[in-house]
Amino acid sequence: MNETKVKHALEILKQAVARHGEKLVYPCSFGAEGSVLIDLIQRAGLAIPIVTIDTGRLPQETFEAIEAIEKRYGIRVRIVFPDCHEVEEMVAAHGPNLFRRAVELRRLCCEIRKVRPLARVLADYEAWITGRRREQSAERANLPFVEEDDPVYGKIKYNPLADWTWKEVWDYIRAREVPYHPLHDRFYHSIGCACCTRPIAVGEDPRAGRWWWEHEDVAEECGLHVPASRIAPPKPGEGEQGEGI
Ligand code: SF4
Repeated sequence: MNETKVKHALEILKQAVARHGEKLVYPCSFGAEGSVLIDLIQRAGLAIPIVTIDTGRLPQETFEAIEAIEKRYGIRVRIVFPDCHEVEEMVAAHGPNLFRRAVELRRLCCEIRKVRPLARVLADYEAWITGRRREQSAERANLPFVEEDDPVYGKIKYNPLADWTWKEVWDYIRAREVPYHPLHDRFYHSIGCACCTRPIAVGEDPRAGRWWWEHEDVAEECGLHVPASRIAPPKPGEGEQGEGI
């Protein structure tokens, strides 16, 4: 375990609490980074609420991970949901598996099932914590520990694990015997909705586990960390001509 990075990540978390107090939240998706951050938060006794978004398409294993974390630390994770009317309208207009037919429809699904629910959560806070790391993609190569200018939500973002490697994440989990998502044992790297996540082969790009049917140039973020202009949803009926884009 890299004690220097652990200490630094704890410092980032403590600085965030000192600056924002009750106006700080951690929206967690319960991947490996989430396990590390929750353990750090609980070890330090930091009163940071943990929230997750139940998109309606999550794998059962995510709920098992949530319950294992709750049991280990004696906490309750707040689970928030998309607006059911928005989901109904989207499915009525485009079908339940719209995300497979066009990039715009995949972004619309992420917008309604993830981005808007998170926006409703963040409306009550000044800042949030993420588990993003520089190693995850070229787009994140220069990820700072603190982002003052979030283009999506206008909130301050803290990335305490920005300089951690995947190996360091797992060294921590094993050393601390932290509960982790069961799908990591089945070769899943990045975990999201069941229908949009798959295991990857040894040596394969981790991004191959998400939205793998899209061209690699567009299979990027889900909208939680990119400008809204890049995820503008199409109107019902639009965006379906480009099947297989
Ligand atoms: S990951 Fe897939 S199912 Fe989940 S919100 Fe995005 S497009 Fe929809």
